[in-house]
Amino acid sequence: MMQGKSALVVGAGLGGLALAIRLQASGIRTTLLERRDQPGGRAYVYRDQGFTFDAGPTVITDPTAIEALFALAGKPMSEYVELLPVSPFYRLCWEDGASFDYSNDQAELERQIHALEPADVEGYRRFLAYSRAVLEEGYVKLGAVPFLSFRDMLQAGPQLARLQAWRSVYAMVARFVRHDRLRQALSFHALLVGGNPFATSSIYTLIHALERQWGVWFAKGGTGALVNGLARLFRDLGGTLELNAEVTAFETQGQRLTGARSRDGRRWTADAVASNADVVHTYAQLLGQHRRGAQEGRRLMGKRFSNSLFVVHFGLKRAQPQLRHHTVCFGPRYQALVQEIFNGPALPEDFSLYLHAPCATDPSLAPPGCSSHYVLAPVPHLGNAPIDWENEGPRYRDRILDYLERQHIPGLREDLVTCRTFTPLDFRDELNAHLGSAFSLEPVLTQSAWFRPHNRDAQLHNLYLVGAGTHPGAGVPGVIASAKATAGLMLEDLQG
Ligand SMILES: Cc1cc2nc3c(=O)[nH]c(=O)nc-3n(C[C@H](O)[C@H](O)[C@H](O)COP(=O)(O)OP(=O)(O)OC[C@H]3O[C@@H](n4cnc5c(N)ncnc54)[C@H](O)[C@@H]3O)c2cc1C
Repeated sequence: MMQGKSALVVGAGLGGLALAIRLQASGIRTTLLERRDQPGGRAYVYRDQGFTFDAGPTVITDPTAIEALFALAGKPMSEYVELLPVSPFYRLCWEDGASFDYSNDQAELERQIHALEPADVEGYRRFLAYSRAVLEEGYVKLGAVPFLSFRDMLQAGPQLARLQAWRSVYAMVARFVRHDRLRQALSFHALLVGGNPFATSSIYTLIHALERQWGVWFAKGGTGALVNGLARLFRDLGGTLELNAEVTAFETQGQRLTGARSRDGRRWTADAVASNADVVHTYAQLLGQHRRGAQEGRRLMGKRFSNSLFVVHFGLKRAQPQLRHHTVCFGPRYQALVQEIFNGPALPEDFSLYLHAPCATDPSLAPPGCSSHYVLAPVPHLGNAPIDWENEGPRYRDRILDYLERQHIPGLREDLVTCRTFTPLDFRDELNAHLGSAFSLEPVLTQSAWFRPHNRDAQLHNLYLVGAGTHPGAGVPGVIASAKATAGLMLEDLQG
C-alpha cells in the first residue's frame, strides 16, 4: 500500500533516527539528512588519543522503547548494541562530603533515607507510588499520543488534575518528604530534560518511576554505539543516511512541502518531510520564505526555552576507581542557583555539576589504565545571559576542573591528557539550537502536550516535527516517544 511513498527526515538526532527507522520499516523510502559528519545530534561522539567522549546523553532509561525499534524492524537488538546495567544509578554528593547512592534497591534506599530522616521512609514510599501513577498516565498512556487538538488536551485534563500536574516537581516532592537533601535527590531529575524543578510540572516526577521500573543503562562502547547501532539498523532496512548534508530550505508548493535543498545545492523531493532540527530553526530558517514558517518562527521565539549547558570533556592518564558512573555534585545553593540558571541575567558564581565516569561501566572508552570523563554545568541560555563564552569559557572550565580536583579527582591537573569544551555558542552554532538551549522549549505545563509545537504542522499537512521541541519533549525516552507519535501520523497520512 505504501509502494513508492517517500519521506525526508532532516536531522539524525535520536528522534530523527528513531522516526527514520519506523518509516523505513513500514515501507516508506526514507532519506535522513544530517548536517554534521556523524549522526547522533546531542549524542555526538568525540575521539582523541584513544579516549572516547560521548557529548550528550549517558543515562539511558526505558530500554523497552529502544528494543521496540529493533523488534519493529524484525532484527535482534543484540546484533547491533548491548546495554549494560548501571549501579548505583547515581551517586549524589554534597560539598561537606555527604553522599547518597541512588539505586534500584529499595532496602538500601530506605536505609539511607532513614539515616537522613526516619519519617521520610514512609514519605518516600508514598512518593514512589505517586510517581508510578504519573508514569502510567503521563508516559505509558500519553507519551506517544500526538496532541493535535485542544480536545485531546481536555480529555487528558481529569488525569492531569488528579495528579496535580499544576504543582512543580519540587513542590510535589516536598509534600512527601521533609529532608532538604532528599528533596534535592528526588527533584533534580527534571534538570536532565531541561526542566526547572521549581517550575516544571510534577508530571516529570515520572522520571523517578521510569528509572525504578526499567533501570538505568549504558550502551557498551558508549551512547555513540547506540547511535551507530540505530544508524546501521536504518541502513540495513534500506534507508539512506546522508551526512554532511546541511538543509538550508524546504521547498513548498502552496500549502505542501515538496522537498528540501542543501547548502551545497543538492535537492531531495519527498511526499512527506519531518524535521528533527530545532523548532525555531525549522520554521524561521528552513521555512522562512513561506508565510507559515515566518509566522510560526516568530511565535516560537516568544516562548520560554530551557537552559544551556557548559560541558568539559577530559581524559586522564589514571583510572578513577573512587568514582561511580554518574555523579551529581550539588553546590552550596539549590533553589536560588536553579532560578538564576533558568532566568539569568548572569552566570552564577557557584555551580552544581554532573560528572560522567563511563569507565566505571566500560573501561574500553579510554586507553588501558586511563579514564575518560565529561563534566557539565547547567548555565543560562544566550537569551537570558549573553555571556561572552569565548572569553568566559576557559576561566569557567578552570574553575570547574579546580573544583573537581578538590572534591572528587585528586591530581586531576597533573593527569590531564586531553580536554575540550562545548559551550552555549556551540549548541547554537553546531546544532542550530535557538539561544543555545540544550533541551529546546522549557517543559512547563503551558508548553507541554497540546501547548508544545505539534508533531504535525497545523497548516502544512505534510510537515512533521520529531525530537525535543515537539511532544512529549526532551530526553532519550522523550524523543523516541515523539518518533512513535510522529510516525503514527505520517503513516496514516501516507496511507490515505
Ligand atoms: C550534554 C547533554 C547531556 C544529556 N544527558 C541526557 C541523559 O543522560 N539522558 C537523557 O535521556 N537525555 C539527556 N540529554 C537530552 C537528550 O540528549 C536530548 O533531548 C536528545 O538527544 C535530543 O534528541 P533530538 O531527537 O531532539 O535531536 P538532536 O540531538 O537535537 O539532533 C538534531 C540533529 O539535527 C541536525 N540538524 C540541525 N539543523 C540541521 C539542518 N539544517 N540540516 C540538517 N541537519 C540539521 C543536528 O546537527 C542534529 O544532529 C542530554 C543532553 C545534553 C545536551
